Amino acid sequence: MKNNNTDMMRILTGDRPTGPLHLGHYVGSLKNRVLLQDRYDMFIIIADVQALTTNYINVDRIKNDVREVCLDYLSVGINPKKTTIFIQSQIPEIAELTIFYSMLVKISFLKHNPTIKTEALEKGVENNLSYGFLGYPVSQAADITFCKANLVPVGEDQIPHIEQTREIVRRFNKLYGPVLVEPKALVGEVPRLVGLDGKLKMSKSYNNALFLKDSPEIVKKKVFSAVTDPARIHPNDPGHPEICTVFAYHNAFNEKEVLEIEQSCKKGTIRCIDCKNNLTNIINSFLAPIQEKRNTFEKHQDLIIDILKTGTKQAKNIAKKTVVEVKQAMQLDYFG
Ligand code: ATP
Ligand code: MG
Repeated sequence: MKNNNTDMMRILTGDRPTGPLHLGHYVGSLKNRVLLQDRYDMFIIIADVQALTTNYINVDRIKNDVREVCLDYLSVGINPKKTTIFIQSQIPEIAELTIFYSMLVKISFLKHNPTIKTEALEKGVENNLSYGFLGYPVSQAADITFCKANLVPVGEDQIPHIEQTREIVRRFNKLYGPVLVEPKALVGEVPRLVGLDGKLKMSKSYNNALFLKDSPEIVKKKVFSAVTDPARIHPNDPGHPEICTVFAYHNAFNEKEVLEIEQSCKKGTIRCIDCKNNLTNIINSFLAPIQEKRNTFEKHQDLIIDILKTGTKQAKNIAKKTVVEVKQAMQLDYFG
């Protein structure tokens, strides 16, 4: 079990349990988490309440997805002895903080949040937004501040939400006293990995993701289905790597050859099929050790439950303390 080190700076980051994790998670956030867990007191939230913003009807998937996401953490190298992994819904203090913070946020500000606007549009709910969906950046502020996180490793889509959190912290501290910590976003090497469709961000919910657990055959199938440069009809047509999804993945996962591939694509001296075969091999070699670890952990379901239970207990203790401080600052403490 991890010792929460109060001298270390804290990290809070996390994911929605809406499916297994994908390559975008790896380059956007997971890679940083694995690197930073030695230097920071790290907390990872599995945001099942936030999953409800889009999946409140299909709740039967969430429990399994919590397990999948936790398995992915362990297989990429998140170490529960260094990192606290916990489940959002099991910490009611987060919901309590959300209510307090909701007084400090203007609805018009939430409506102008660019990520909310994009997600609402992409999910087809732009004219039918629920209170919970519109307000999830406020709930996210509670996720980040209950443990007084200094740093939040995220993909680009989360930047407006971190800004919202910073705004809430500043308002709260100004109104009631210096209780909360203003966090900073840390965006990964690839801030937004494009999906296989070549248009939207790679997402668990958009049917455009290459998952960390995909088998070599599925990886091949997905790489070959990825949208590429439509101008390359004949093998020696000059290409435009900047609009090619396969090239975007070379850029993210094939540091060694990416420059050479860019040059030969532009000159039309590499065939798309060779470029795709090469990428398939690169991704499969990258995923092989991750999947090997996943297979081992998959056999130990009790361990997964144990990690989640212990992490949730640790996070809850910290959340309780923060809520006491918050209520004191807001003069909502009545009985000593
Ligand atoms: P969903 O479609 O259910 O919203 P998602 O794929 O967007 O799932 P989240 O759980 O919402 O994943 O995001 C978890 C973290 O991963 C966030 O920090 C987010 O910015 C980052 N992330 C997600 N997708 C990408 C991507 N394609 N590129 C870079 N970072 C990403
Ligand atoms: Mg998302």
